[in-house]
Amino acid sequence: MKRAIYPGSFDPVTFGHMDIIRRSAGMFDEIIVGVLNNSQKNSLFNADVRVTILEGLLKEFDNVYVEAFDGLLVDFAKKKDANIIVRGLRAVTDFEYELQIAQTNRVEYPKLDTVFLVTDLNYSYLSSSIVKEFASFGGDISKFVPESIIPMIEDAYTYSKRIK
Ligand code: ADP
Repeated sequence: MKRAIYPGSFDPVTFGHMDIIRRSAGMFDEIIVGVLNNSQKNSLFNADVRVTILEGLLKEFDNVYVEAFDGLLVDFAKKKDANIIVRGLRAVTDFEYELQIAQTNRVEYPKLDTVFLVTDLNYSYLSSSIVKEFASFGGDISKFVPESIIPMIEDAYTYSKRIK
């Protein structure tokens, strides 16, 4: 049984993430999308909301599960009995950090392998931060994120403007 974890913040999930999930679901028996509960980060949606959004978008995949986690990824991987981590690589700028994390994780948990999927050219520029930047200025984000979550993102910014 090849069980892999695809960890990230997914705040919000983008077409780039969806592409990595779809491709890795075809490679491994089971994918757990691990939603990092980064309470100190100033996130757009809390982890429970991000989990609910992802579950809704990933209903069609019967081997993909979504779960929030906090603390170390290696501990989550051990708990889930998974020894593969999937990460997406967009550009050289991702590489150095990802390599360091992957190697550190292996020191902590030698059975753990990190598999990097090279981003689809269509999404290589795309990040959650870019989506937030655009949305905060009322930009069109329909090319970046699934249509069903656009109202939630727009509402979050409208609300934050109202309380300022
Ligand atoms: P993190 O804060 O852990 O980087 P993200 O939610 O930003 O979390 O990203 C999760 C994973 O998805 C990372 O491996 C990241 O490189 C990958 N990723 C993000 N955007 C894209 C994209 N456009 N194409 C492919 N992979 C991506």
